[in-house]
Amino acid sequence: MPLVRYRKVVILGYRSVGKTSLAHQFVEGEFVEGYDPTVENTYSKIVTLGKDEFHLHLVDTAGQDEYSILPYSFIIGVHGYVLVYSVTSLHSFQVIESLYQKLHEGHGKTRVPVVLVGNKADLSPEREVQAVEGKKLAASWGATFMESSARENQLTQGIFTKVIQEIARVENSYGQE
Ligand code: GDP
Repeated sequence: MPLVRYRKVVILGYRSVGKTSLAHQFVEGEFVEGYDPTVENTYSKIVTLGKDEFHLHLVDTAGQDEYSILPYSFIIGVHGYVLVYSVTSLHSFQVIESLYQKLHEGHGKTRVPVVLVGNKADLSPEREVQAVEGKKLAASWGATFMESSARENQLTQGIFTKVIQEIARVENSYGQE
């Protein structure tokens, strides 16, 4: 019987960037129209990657800003993060930079497995953040970057398989030290 590994992943970002929509699209395979400010919601899904099976426990948060203090429950026992901004909001991108710094400090400045996501890529006329800027920011952390659209289901599966791979990558890099 394959070993099912448990992975806890927290989705962080400014409000209304599409955190809930991405989680919902991933777990339920559909886009739900309308704005529902999440308090905090959790999702579970078994993800198969090659021969390995993972029990992915996703925590969808209410949203943060640059003044937010991250609770311990977002740090302790968390394996990885999906940091989401909207490509239509420069402010949401700036919030991500401050959130990452808080995560990095919360984890004792060790490497944190992160996938940075620029969501709402379908709204190109309203774009305020270019892909190259997201790419640069993720590269400065040694993290992965992708753009997505929860509305069009572009790459939403890929985000969550990527974060599982990032967790393995960071764990392996420690094993080799
Ligand atoms: P959250 O507060 O970050 O969890 O954001 P939500 O998932 O609740 O989404 C906020 C609003 O943006 C809702 O009206 C969604 O329908 C919309 N939305 C989310 N993702 C996308 C996307 O990829 N494209 C477009 N066009 N709208 C989106």
